[in-house]
Amino acid sequence: MLKVERLTKTYFTAAGPLTVLKDVTLEVAAGDTLAVVGPSGSGKTTLLGLCAGLDEPTTGSVALNGANLERLSEDERALLRNADVGFVFQNFQLIPTLTALENVLVPLELRTGLRRNAGEGLASSSAVPGDGLTEARALLERVGLSDRLGHYPLQLSGGEQQRVSLARAFVNRPKILFCDEPTGNLDDETAQAMMDLVFGLNRERGTTLVLVTHNPDLARRCSRTIRLRGGAVVDDHSA
Ligand code: ADP
Ligand code: MG
Repeated sequence: MLKVERLTKTYFTAAGPLTVLKDVTLEVAAGDTLAVVGPSGSGKTTLLGLCAGLDEPTTGSVALNGANLERLSEDERALLRNADVGFVFQNFQLIPTLTALENVLVPLELRTGLRRNAGEGLASSSAVPGDGLTEARALLERVGLSDRLGHYPLQLSGGEQQRVSLARAFVNRPKILFCDEPTGNLDDETAQAMMDLVFGLNRERGTTLVLVTHNPDLARRCSRTIRLRGGAVVDDHSA
């Protein structure tokens, strides 16, 4: 499902080049679960972004579901991301002017637009199919937010925003889900419920999971853990 080869990322900053990922190679099979751990600044978020095709590596390659990302155009990458990838960001990245329900519907609207750009000629411009709306409501219910559908992000707690962002990540039924510290802002009980949800969807839908986490319980639930330090993989073990 995910194949990363000799990935390196160097940022060119005013203070000079800064290499934050060094020669990372890893493979994750479809339906598998991988935890990425390591201290703050070790490159976890950078690695996740590169794997999801949100950013481009300095050297090395990423293949998602058999497609080599560097061989795709920007538009093709967007289409692939929208079709196959879910992403839960460390800081949620909800759109402040949209309600919880509207935020969850964004990937579906985007899908319609992307397909139209790709020449698939859909009849209506931004219409979300009825089953998409049903799915969005069902996911929000599943994360315990059925009474917050009309709330704007500012009216939601950090944990509630995180749950909206998880519902949004699942609405397109992605083949692979990337989560950046998915329980970082949640109390123990909510974190547990979130993880039950994520691993439940892994089992039910075969969704491949790549989770960045500081939570050892969460890492233990994954079939494999890699540890980053200074941008390099310093440990790689299976449960
Ligand atoms: P982690 O998620 O493990 O805390 P990150 O991947 O966010 O680490 O960052 C790794 C390193 O890369 C950090 O030292 C960070 O300061 C640096 N970094 C991240 N993004 C940029 C950027 N756009 N420009 C320069 N340095 C960056
Ligand atoms: Mg991070």
